[in-house]
Amino acid sequence: AEETEAFVARQPTSRAFRDRATHLAGGATSNWQIADPQPVWISHGRGSRIWDVDGCEYSDFHGGYGVALAGHAHPAIVAAVTERVGRGTHFAQPTEDAIAVADNLAERFGLPLWRFGNSGTEATMDAVHLMRAATGRSRILKVEGGYHGHHDSVEVSVLPEADDDIGPRERPHNVLDNSGIPTEITDLVTVVPFNDLEVVAQVLDEHPGEVAGMIVEPVMMNAGIIHPLPGYLAGLKELLHRHGALLAFDEVKTGMTVGPSGVTGIQGVTPDLVCLAKAIGGGVSTAAIGGTDEVMSLIADGGYEQVGTFNGNPLAMAAARAMLTEVLTPAAYTHLEHLRTRMETGLQGVIDEHALPWRVITAGAKGCVSFLPDEVHDFRDFLTLDGRYGHAHWLVQHNRGAFLPPWGKVEQWLMSVQHTDEDVDRFVANFAHLAERLTR
Ligand code: PLP
Repeated sequence: AEETEAFVARQPTSRAFRDRATHLAGGATSNWQIADPQPVWISHGRGSRIWDVDGCEYSDFHGGYGVALAGHAHPAIVAAVTERVGRGTHFAQPTEDAIAVADNLAERFGLPLWRFGNSGTEATMDAVHLMRAATGRSRILKVEGGYHGHHDSVEVSVLPEADDDIGPRERPHNVLDNSGIPTEITDLVTVVPFNDLEVVAQVLDEHPGEVAGMIVEPVMMNAGIIHPLPGYLAGLKELLHRHGALLAFDEVKTGMTVGPSGVTGIQGVTPDLVCLAKAIGGGVSTAAIGGTDEVMSLIADGGYEQVGTFNGNPLAMAAARAMLTEVLTPAAYTHLEHLRTRMETGLQGVIDEHALPWRVITAGAKGCVSFLPDEVHDFRDFLTLDGRYGHAHWLVQHNRGAFLPPWGKVEQWLMSVQHTDEDVDRFVANFAHLAERLTR
């Protein structure tokens, strides 16, 4: 309560903006911005820092839900976007930057053919459509607790609560996460636990010739962070292919943030399709879907219409080209790895000092504190987490100048190429404050 009061006291202008925004549904521009106690309205950002409309400065660990891997107003992005703005931002015809972006992604992910969109939702929607179009089948597998955007086939069992009708761990029941989605569509989705090949094998056997494919985040990032067990991703690919089904990696969050070629590169498992968005656009809305010749030829020959007025938008392509070719260099990843180690060591030191049962989980530039005593391998392990820890962490960090995503239970931090030791040390000091308060 004390931290909530301090939060509100720091934000009178944000509160006034919210009250003024009577024509914005819910007083914000996305439901994920409607935080408790109130949304924070941002004025500007530079480097690793952002400033709210009340003039408070923060080290930004929110990164706009995992987008700002370049940090804010990175000189290379500013130059690319400024140059493009002066020559026109939209023609609905391809511009040269799109070639450079597709070439770069093909090299990073080992998949030959790419198309662009505007959001992660569009990329995963195309992936689901493509898997169905390529196989002529309808059933899709998705993981319990996995978020892939807000289209009909994937808003199933994203964040079910323990008191929902969730069914047994091995055979989760489909729990609808939004209204407006017909069960006729979600009945075509089978939800499976993460890190469990046996269940996938059983489902494939039970639905012979029915499963088009599976969409999965290769490192789960909607439940803190859950890493795949050794062999899980390769096992999925083998099982699905054996049954004539396809594998799509949703690397919207993990894409460039965990390493230069995503989890795909780290694990050495190339799926049939990879979905990217968030960080690839350097802060401009961009998404990409890449795939094998076999699947993507459906787009090339018109068998699947991957269309959109803003696809490959020149501004987005200019920003993505600068992001991929100028910002995300090997040196940038060396710096991110330095920050990751410093953060992990610092937080673990606090946990050890206070003998807390928590753990630090990282994946490249992303990471979180798991406020659970045991390792988490799937969503059911995560379900027991008391959400009040994440919320308290968010408030404490915020009130001491570090901005985290408000959905403290499920979200991660993101560090950018412009973050410094000072930003990390501030975060660790704030975490130490939380630990002291909770153990006092
Ligand atoms: N896939 C994953 C893994 C995500 O985390 C998100 C968004 O958080 C999406 C897809 C949807 O992306 P967008 O919000 O750009 O539609």
